[in-house]
Amino acid sequence: MFTRDKTRAVKIGKVTIGAGNLVRVQSMTQTRTNDVQATVKQILDLEEAGCEIIRVTVPDMESAKAIKAIKKQINIPLVADIHFQYLLAIEAAKQGVDKVRINPGNIGGTDRVKEVVRVCKEKNIPIRIGVNMGSLEKDLYAKYGALGVPRVMIESATRHIKILEGLKFYNIVVSLKGDNAVFAREAYMLFAKRFDYPLHVGITEAGTLWAGSIKSAVGIGSILAEGIGDTIRVSIADDPKEQVKVGWEILRALGLRQKGVDIIACPTCGRTQINLIDLARKVESIVSKVDAPIKVAVMGCVVNGPGEASFADIGVCGGRNQGAIFKKGKLLKTYQEKELLQAFIAEIKTVLIEKGYKKEISKLAFH
Ligand code: SF4
Repeated sequence: MFTRDKTRAVKIGKVTIGAGNLVRVQSMTQTRTNDVQATVKQILDLEEAGCEIIRVTVPDMESAKAIKAIKKQINIPLVADIHFQYLLAIEAAKQGVDKVRINPGNIGGTDRVKEVVRVCKEKNIPIRIGVNMGSLEKDLYAKYGALGVPRVMIESATRHIKILEGLKFYNIVVSLKGDNAVFAREAYMLFAKRFDYPLHVGITEAGTLWAGSIKSAVGIGSILAEGIGDTIRVSIADDPKEQVKVGWEILRALGLRQKGVDIIACPTCGRTQINLIDLARKVESIVSKVDAPIKVAVMGCVVNGPGEASFADIGVCGGRNQGAIFKKGKLLKTYQEKELLQAFIAEIKTVLIEKGYKKEISKLAFH
């Protein structure tokens, strides 16, 4: 197993990744970058959802020039996503972007790379090399074939890295994305054996919210579980706030980071005698904006509920048309089903106060 602290540190604006720093949740805007107002609004919404680094597409000079105005109005590092056009990378850097995603082998020759590197060195901006399974070099693909995709990705990344290293540029982040989680994992593992550059991890075109979340959790999760990965992005076809939420859930499931309330709910079975699924959904919705490291359990029965969720700070378990609230596995009080939600939320408030998160109470959302 590799460990994140073996990678070198790279600074993206005020956030440092690699060298054992926290794994950061990243996302990408869906707006036209030259629409500054819409882009800033989406970034601020994403910040609130927990996004820590944001990438915007820069397909033209107008978008590159919009970066300065966007940066002034946001609070997280901004990354410019550029394909082929080196002048856009230079302009984005001049406008104050915090990282540039561009592949040096694809921008048309050494002089152009030198110019990009010169500006990035001057501004102390890292470059992310983004290797994507969907657009691999034909000669490498011919060499390794369809089953050798992870090796093709590594060789492709190596080509780009060598170009930058040849210019004594080492402020590098790499991603090796693809829609095949097994290949992606193998590629990241091979890379981590050879290089110490921080890695941005993602499974591309993962799919819709439901299927894409599962695929991302398996793919990103299995890579992170190897001790590999410094930033993550969940590429699902949905509101980017959902990408951020899923990203945080992956980190929480691996014990790497926690944001928000951790809700445990049993799957229900023949013992369940209250509408537990509805209760769990309501609790989840009410606490969705609360940012406090507490565990809340919603369990179907008193037979197994309190024991199985004894590690929860506060829990509820169902009985016949009623429910019991328990704290750290100990019974507090029993309520009729119709009073249960309200009583449970009151107890959650008490836990928030006890744990020093009184301010978070105002974020409880009743619809
Ligand atoms: Fe069934 Fe009780 Fe377990 Fe829920 S906690 S799955 S109701 S046994």
